[in-house]
Amino acid sequence: GYHQVVKENRDLYNMVQDLKGNIRVYCRIRPIFNEEARSIVDFIGQDDSLVISDPSKPQREGRKIFKFNKVFGPTSSQNDIYADTQPLIRSVMDGYNVCIFAYGQTGSGKTHTMSCPSGGLANDMGINHLALNDLFHLSSMRKDIAEYEIQVQMVEIYNEQVRDLLAEDSSNTKYPFMLKLLEIRSCTADGGLSLPDATMHSVKSTADVIKLMKLGDDNRVISSTVLNNRSSRSHSILTVHVSGKDISGCTLRSCLHLIDLAGSERVDKSEVTGERLKEAQYINKSLSCLGDVITSLAQKNSHIPYRNSKLTLLLQHSLGGHAKTLMFAHINPERDSFGETISTLKFAQRVSSVELGAARMNKENSEVMQLKEQVENLKAALANKR
Ligand code: ADP
Ligand code: MG
Repeated sequence: GYHQVVKENRDLYNMVQDLKGNIRVYCRIRPIFNEEARSIVDFIGQDDSLVISDPSKPQREGRKIFKFNKVFGPTSSQNDIYADTQPLIRSVMDGYNVCIFAYGQTGSGKTHTMSCPSGGLANDMGINHLALNDLFHLSSMRKDIAEYEIQVQMVEIYNEQVRDLLAEDSSNTKYPFMLKLLEIRSCTADGGLSLPDATMHSVKSTADVIKLMKLGDDNRVISSTVLNNRSSRSHSILTVHVSGKDISGCTLRSCLHLIDLAGSERVDKSEVTGERLKEAQYINKSLSCLGDVITSLAQKNSHIPYRNSKLTLLLQHSLGGHAKTLMFAHINPERDSFGETISTLKFAQRVSSVELGAARMNKENSEVMQLKEQVENLKAALANKR
């Protein structure tokens, strides 16, 4: 009876941990909007593989196969995506640091996956929204055994400069946004913040966070110099800090980084110059640094090149062996995007072909919290049996 339930609970927990590993790569294929167009995705396998065909070659010659932890086809819903993301989000409440990246060329669906589209349908909400709902829900479920505080920061990295997106100038009613550049603190082994000067807001509900994200998005657009496409030329990072204290006084601290990366498309160097070329070079560099860091972590190299980009430096303590990482590789399956699609898939394959070591909790104490939750579950299970 009792021991059996304990064992099952443990096994289930371990299974979820194994399943979710340390680095996961999911591929999401956007729908085709032009009804006439044919998809270059030939086939999605039951085993999460996909076959791409080169539209310029005869069928059999130009086929390539890729395999990921998950492949989501064009009919997958936001909820389908979230169902496979949720265990990771929940582990934030147990003291793990988690990074979720949206990678892909502009227009491939990164923002669709991550954010709640403004004016979008309630059932179309992205990971940011669903994750926060879940965190608030979990913290209220656990309120008898632990007390959580949830705070958020939102920044963007543009041309290797980190900018606070939640800085406000309250004295200016007409233009309340403030351009505030931030320094990254790299020595945060003591659990300190990597962006101590970024505006931090305590939040009590998903609605609070949505309001802040709206402010951040407005801030981003209004003060941008390249008005038309700034949002696709910078990385935006929403960080959710969770700190918890249980009834015995044990504490844990962890964070969830939700990252909408800059578009990964290569620009033709012969065609662009000036600002546009500089942007493109910064983006290429930081995306390839991200790939290098994840690969070096997986190979357990003694030197991890975090310092080669602002993005990896900022995330240093959330990417190391103590953390869990999920990357969504987004694909636009239209013919014109073949080249970018292959390069996205190759990048994603490089990042996923490797297995990081077992993830570790931030604080051993957080295990206590988990055991307490199990005890509650067991009590409930026993009560049901009576
Ligand atoms: P990105 O952020 O990568 O530039 P977006 O998320 O803005 O791309 O997507 C481009 C367009 O395609 C948007 O209009 C978005 O609503 C739509 N879109 C992207 N992915 C999906 C999807 N899975 N289902 C329906 N529409 C999508
Ligand atoms: Mg976008």
